[in-house]
Amino acid sequence: MIDKLRVIGQNIGKLMFPSVCPLCGEILEDNQDKEMYICQDCSQKLKPIKPPVCLKCGQEVDGIETDCCSDCAVVTRSYVKGFPALKYSPEMSKCLSDFKYHNMRSYAAFLADIIVRERGKEILLAGPEVIVPVPVHKSKLKVRGYNQAQVLGEELGRRLKLPVDTELIERGVKTAPQKELSNAQREENLKRAFISSRKIVEYKSALIVDDIYTTGATVEACTGVLHSMGIEDVYYTCVCIGQGL
Ligand SMILES: [Zn+2]
Ligand SMILES: [Zn+2]
Repeated sequence: MIDKLRVIGQNIGKLMFPSVCPLCGEILEDNQDKEMYICQDCSQKLKPIKPPVCLKCGQEVDGIETDCCSDCAVVTRSYVKGFPALKYSPEMSKCLSDFKYHNMRSYAAFLADIIVRERGKEILLAGPEVIVPVPVHKSKLKVRGYNQAQVLGEELGRRLKLPVDTELIERGVKTAPQKELSNAQREENLKRAFISSRKIVEYKSALIVDDIYTTGATVEACTGVLHSMGIEDVYYTCVCIGQGL
C-alpha cells in the first residue's frame, strides 16, 4: 500500500514537475537517458573537448605540433593546467544562462556530471586537495540568491570526493560587467576584484571551478590570490570554454 502510494506520489510529482531537457526545454520521456538529464537530440549537440588540446588552458588546438593555443602563447597563465569539459556552443548558451541567472541551480548536477565524464580522471590524476569556486560579489549574491560556480563546485566535490572551500577567495571591489570591457580592461578590472582574508592555509593545491572560461582573466586573478596564500599548484575546470562570449 505504502509502495503504491509512493508510486502515485512520484507520478503526480512528474506531472507537476516533469524533467525537462536543460538545453531545449523538452519534457524528458521515461525511456530517455535520465543519467544525462538531457534529450537525445541535444546530447548529440554537446561538443566535448577532444585532443590535441592546449597543454595550458586545455582548449582544443589545431595541430599536434603546438603545445599551446595562440592565447596561452602570449598571455600569462600562472595556473598549472586547465580541464574544460565542452566547447562553447549555442545549445549550451541558454542552459548556462538559465543556470546562472534564472534560478535553475538544479542544472548543477547535470553540469557536474559532464565535467566528471569528460575530465574527471585527469582532474583526479592532477590531485587538487580542494575545490575553490569563483566567488561573486555580495551584492550579486543578494539579487540572485546563489553563486552558480559554488553550486557547481559543490556537486563536483560530491562526485570527486573533494572538499569545497568557499571562503578562500572573496570578491572585493565591485567590478564592471566583463562583457562590456576589452581584454586589457578585463584583466585590470579583475586584478583588484579578488581578495583573501586568510593568510595561512592547509592546502598546497587547488582546483578553481567556474561555469564558463573565456579569456582566462578570472582564473588568472584567482590563481594570483591562491598563490599569495601559499597554494602552489592551481588547476581549473569549467563546463564550457570559448571565445567572444
Ligand atoms: Zn533537448
Ligand atoms: Zn591555451
